[in-house]
Parts: sequence; structure tokens; C-alpha cells
Amino acid sequence: MLSRFLVHNSVQLHRAAAAASPSHGAPEDTPESSTRHDDDRLLGGLLSQAFDEHSCRSRYTSSLYRRRSPFRPSTYLVERLRRYEARHKRCGPGSALFQEAVEHLRSGRNAARSECQYVVWTPFNGLGNRMLALASTFLYALLTDRVLLVHAPPEFDGLFCEPFPGSSWTLPADFLITDFDGVFTMWSPTSYKNMRQAGTISNATAEQSLPAYVFLDLIQSFTDAAFCDDDQQVLAKFNWMVIKSDVYFAAMLFLMPAYERELTQLFPEKEAVFHHLARYLFHPSNDVWGIVHRFYEAYLARADELVGLQVRVFPEMPIPFDNMYEQIIRCSEQEGLLPKLGQTVVVTAANGSSVVAPSTKLTSILVTSLFPDYYDRIRGVYHARPTETGEYVAVHQPSHEREQRTEARGHNQRALAEIYLLSFCDRVVTSAVSTFGYIAHGLAGVRPWVLLRPPSPVARAEPACVRSETVEPCLQALPRRMCGAAEGSDIGALVPHIRHCEDVQKGVKLFS
Ligand code: GDP
Repeated sequence: MLSRFLVHNSVQLHRAAAAASPSHGAPEDTPESSTRHDDDRLLGGLLSQAFDEHSCRSRYTSSLYRRRSPFRPSTYLVERLRRYEARHKRCGPGSALFQEAVEHLRSGRNAARSECQYVVWTPFNGLGNRMLALASTFLYALLTDRVLLVHAPPEFDGLFCEPFPGSSWTLPADFLITDFDGVFTMWSPTSYKNMRQAGTISNATAEQSLPAYVFLDLIQSFTDAAFCDDDQQVLAKFNWMVIKSDVYFAAMLFLMPAYERELTQLFPEKEAVFHHLARYLFHPSNDVWGIVHRFYEAYLARADELVGLQVRVFPEMPIPFDNMYEQIIRCSEQEGLLPKLGQTVVVTAANGSSVVAPSTKLTSILVTSLFPDYYDRIRGVYHARPTETGEYVAVHQPSHEREQRTEARGHNQRALAEIYLLSFCDRVVTSAVSTFGYIAHGLAGVRPWVLLRPPSPVARAEPACVRSETVEPCLQALPRRMCGAAEGSDIGALVPHIRHCEDVQKGVKLFS
């Protein structure tokens, strides 16, 4: 079990062995090592101990499948998460305070500012987009002392474990609003932007004169920018808020003076913001974990080195197979990523005869893609020829779904499982613009090599790939205006820790 860590890291081996057979007690099972083990298991205090392990097997074990994270959560973040959990339990579904808040919502009018304020996240677009937006909404909830609730339609339901102990983040089935797609559109009369434009709300509007909820429309085009301190003062009056987004808007919060101090304390290392949020929030359900665990044990556990290759070909940029394959190989040669092909290594045995040199190293390449072609070609190449060093190469691909089917739960479960498998890799190569790839390297805590997007489907990408300078995902869509900055100013040049992304020039991301 988890044998690839045998070679890599004896501490990991201890962790793996302890997880695999807790009753056996490893030789180095001293008080010091068990404290260390607890610290690893709880991700440096990021995770609460208060969960039943069996209800969510991934929560305390998935980190054992990865190298140790280079990032440690700050003490302040850990403290804030415990405070958040207490609030969630007090205000969450099933509590008397939640009932009271729902009654106010039913009345159609906002109440005086309540102890329990809520932000409801509703999904939009593919799984990667959803996870970026959900993590951003959680950060927003932390900063504004709101309770995060999730509208989980059937295709989303059951993908993740509950993240907050003793409560639920899922809106109850009998919640007042059910038709989220119908109610929350760009024309919604309670959208913040529409209310602002119609002049029905301002900083002077009394809390009780406001509608029962406000809708923040933060999808791609960001039509509804709400990232000025002034906006936040109005928004803070609403006890109920609904956010629809498909982008990593967390990055924008780092440009707001109102949150600057708090965010610096929470995340002294800015490139680890998503890494910590995602490891805290996203734990695959037992069904999804079953897919991950079985695949890992069957195909990847024996590898000494795992290289992840995520090939995403977007419908709007249909790069032909040969071009994409050529780019992958060019990237690999440029950066030394995939094992080099060579001649069979022959050595002279004791009796003077020539024999093929034995190798002890196994490199596994995990390919994820909607299509099987890249896996087929790469596997064929390593079957046909030996590597330069004599190491063995195994190539695996868990699924090839051919097309995106976000509305199907089984499809999403496989997608999530593959994101997790990619996040176990030692080195990760991702496709530009893909949020699926962002989540994988964000969870892993590794800086990926990004296969750049060519100017057109048949043009050559130059260079083939670049190594990202941060683990953070890219916020691909920016608001049209940024408070405090002159009209038309470059958002990627306002502060040192926010710069343009390697893969989406107009987007920005956080750097340490
Ligand atoms: P993005 O479109 O690349 O930014 O990523 P999203 O995750 O938001 O949307 C793409 C969706 O297509 C995924 O959520 C999956 O449903 C599907 N998909 C794309 N690539 C893969 C893949 O390699 N494996 C699997 N199983 N599904 C994929």
C-alpha cells in the first residue's frame, strides 16, 4: 500500500503504514512521531478532529497519497476556521437561528442585522469552475462572518463530504427558493447591480427597507462587480446573499483595503490561498474516494515517480491531435519532464556475457483527457522503445469521456476522482485556461508546467510550455472597474502580489 513512498521519503512511509494498519504500531511509534502523525493527518491543524473517519474516508487519508505540502496554514487561519465552524453549527440548517432566518426570508423583507448572516452559493459551469467559485465564496464568508450554504442540484449532490463538523452546508430540500436557475439571472430584480442601477439601494438605505436577499452575479463577464469597500458596506446589511460565480474571485478580495489586514494574517504565503482553502473544504465522498483509491492502488502505487499530464482541448480552440501531441513532446524535451527514449542499456555480466541492465525505477505517467488518443500514442512510444536510463515507464488513463457532461453525476464523480489522482503526482503538466488543471495543482501544492494556448488551433505555441511561478489558480475574468484605481488602469500592476497569469494574459493571480 502506498509503496511509492518507500523510495521517496521514510517519513511518508511511516505515515502511510500508520494509516494502512493503525493497529500494528510502526517501529518509530514514539509520542513525538504520533504527534507528527496527527499534525500530518490534520494538515497542520487545518482540519478539525471532530469527524467520524468512516463517513468520509478521504478526509484524513488523502494527504498520505501526496508528498508533504510545502505550505503550512497560519495559526490564525486555523483559529478562524474553528471559529467559523462554531458559527456554522450555531446558525446552520436544523438550528433555531436558521429557522428564524428562513422566516425572515419568507417575509420578503430584510430584518435588522442578525447574528446569523448567510451566503448561498449556486453552481454554474464545469466542476473546476464550480470548485474555484465555491472556495472563493467560502473565503468571502470567512471575511464577512457569513455562513456558507450550498445549493446542490442532483449532479452536484454527493460529490463531496460535509466540510463543517456537526452541521451541514447543503440547503435543506424544503428551502424556500428551489428554482435557482430561473430566479438568479442577469435580469434578476434583486441582483446587486440591477438594484444599484435602478437606484433602489444606496449606502443610506435602512436595513429593514431592503429586500430579503441580494443576488451577486459574478459569472465570467463579471457584470456585477462588487469589490469596492462602499459596495461591501451596503451588502453587509443583507442577512441573505446568493452568489453565482464560475471564477476564482477570491483573488479580487486581495485588492480591497477593507480586507487587507485580515487576509495578510490568514495567508502570510499568498500563493497558498487556494491550496489551503481547497484542502480544507473539498473531500471526495466515499463513492468518489472509492474510484480514486482503487485506481491508485491498482496502477500508481508502485511508481517511484508520478508525472501527471492533463490534456484539455476546448471546443472553441480545437487544436488538432498532431499539433497538441507535438506541443506536449516539445514541452517535455524543453523541461525534461517525461523519461527520454534511448537505446537498450547492455552491461557485461560476471561470466563475461552481455545482458540488459536491470532497472529498479518505475515512472508512471497519468494522463487525464476527455480523449484516449494522447494516452494511446504515449503508451505506444514507451512500449516500442526503451528509455535512456533503462527505467520502466507505465502510462495510465482512468477514463475518456469524449465530451463534457456536467449535468451527469457519474461523469462529475469521475472528473473529481481524476482531479484528485492528478493532485497526487510529483510533477504536473496542465493545459492553459483549464480550471480542471488549476484545481489539481492547487490541491497538490505544486507549480505546474502549463501547455500554452497557441494563437489559433493550427498555430504553434511558443514556447510550448512555461513553469508557473505560483500554485495559485488564475482569475480569468476581471471586473471592468476597480475601485481606487484610475479608469483603464492595469489590475495586474496595482500591487506586487497580484500579477498577470501565464496562460490568460488578461487574467490575474496571487503570488507570494
Ligand atoms: P475547464 O473547462 O477545463 O476549465 O474545467 P471544468 O472542470 O470547469 O469543466 C470541464 C469538464 O469537462 C470537467 O468538469 C469534466 O466534466 C469534463 N472533463 C474535462 N477534462 C476531463 C478529464 O480529463 N477527465 C474527465 N473525467 N473529465 C474531464
